[in-house]
Amino acid sequence: MARKSSAKARRGAAGREPEHLHGDENPFDLGLTQRPRRLRSSELIRGMVRETALDPKKFIYPMFLCEGKRVKEEVPSMPGIFRQSVDLALREMGEAAKLGIPAVLLFGIPDHKDAMGTGAFAGDGIVQKGIRAAKKEFGADLLVVTDVCLCEYTDHGHCAPVSRDGVVLNDEGVAIHCATALSHAEAGADMVAPSDMMDGRVGAIREVLDDAGFENVPIMAYSAKYASAYYGPFREAADSAPQFGDRKSYQMDPANSDEALREVLLDIEEGADIVMVKPALAYLDVLKRVKEMSTVPVAAYNVSGEYAMIKAAAKLGWVDHDRIILETLTSIARAGADIIITYHAKEAARLLGR
Ligand SMILES: [Zn+2]
Repeated sequence: MARKSSAKARRGAAGREPEHLHGDENPFDLGLTQRPRRLRSSELIRGMVRETALDPKKFIYPMFLCEGKRVKEEVPSMPGIFRQSVDLALREMGEAAKLGIPAVLLFGIPDHKDAMGTGAFAGDGIVQKGIRAAKKEFGADLLVVTDVCLCEYTDHGHCAPVSRDGVVLNDEGVAIHCATALSHAEAGADMVAPSDMMDGRVGAIREVLDDAGFENVPIMAYSAKYASAYYGPFREAADSAPQFGDRKSYQMDPANSDEALREVLLDIEEGADIVMVKPALAYLDVLKRVKEMSTVPVAAYNVSGEYAMIKAAAKLGWVDHDRIILETLTSIARAGADIIITYHAKEAARLLGR
C-alpha cells in the first residue's frame, strides 16, 4: 500500500502540532504519499507521461478494387469504404498518402470467378492493374501491399481449391498462392500478404519470390488468423463468402492462443518479415502474447466487423464516433501492434492531426 503514516500520526510523533494547523485540520485527510492523479492533472502532464502514441506512419489502409472506370460503390455495412475502379482508387490512395499513411493493402474483386481462382494470378488481373497504376502514380511515396488469397477469385469462395468431396486442398492452394504472390511482385508490389492460412505457404512464397529475383519484397503473413464472425462486412465488400461450409478447417479456432504462437513461430521460421494477428479487438490477449515472443514486427488487422460496429453505434448516437475510434486504435497499439491495418486509417490520421 502507498499509505504511509497519516499526517496526524506524523504530527503526533513530533510531540506537538504546528501552531497554524490548530482549528482547521482537514478531517478527510488520508495522509497519502502516492497520488497517481498528480500526473493526470493537465493535458501537458498527461501528454508527457503517455505510454502509447498513435502514429499514422504505422497505419495500413485496406482498399477494394473492381473492374471498370469511374465506379465507386459504398459498402452498405461499411460507411466510408468503397469498392472502386482503379482510376478512382488512385485518388483515395493520394489522399491517404497526404495524410501520412505509408501503405495501402489491396484486395481485388474480379468480374469472373472459377474453381481454381485463376483471376488471382492473371497478369491483367484487377489487383495487378491496381499495383501498376499505383506505382506509376506514387512511386516510392506509397507502399503497395497486396492481399494474397483466392477467396475473392474462386466460385466456391474458399481460400484454396476444393476436392470433389469438399476438402480444402492445402498444397494445391499453396502453389496458386505462390503464382499469385509472384504476379503481384512482377506488377511492382512492395510487399505481399498471404491471408489464406494454408500450411507452408510463407516458405513456398519466399522461395518462389527469391528464385525470380524478388528477394527484397517482404512478406507480411496473416499468421494468427481466426475463423471469425467479425469478417461479415468484408465478405459483403469483397463478395467472398464461402458458398458451402466454413473456413474452420484452415482458419484458427477463436478459443486458442497457444496455437497462435505456434503459427507465428512457423511463419517466422519460413521467412515472414512481419506477422499478423487478425481480428484485433477480440484478440488483444493473443496480440500481446505474440508481441512478447515475436522477433519480427507485429501487425494487427482491425477488421470490417469492428469497423461496422463502431459506425452503426455512432450512427445511432450511442457512442462518440471520434473518441471511440482513437480509443480502439490505441488499445490495439497498447496491446503490442507495431502496425495497424484499419479502415479507420484516414479518419484517424485526420483526428490525430488536429
Ligand atoms: Zn481467403
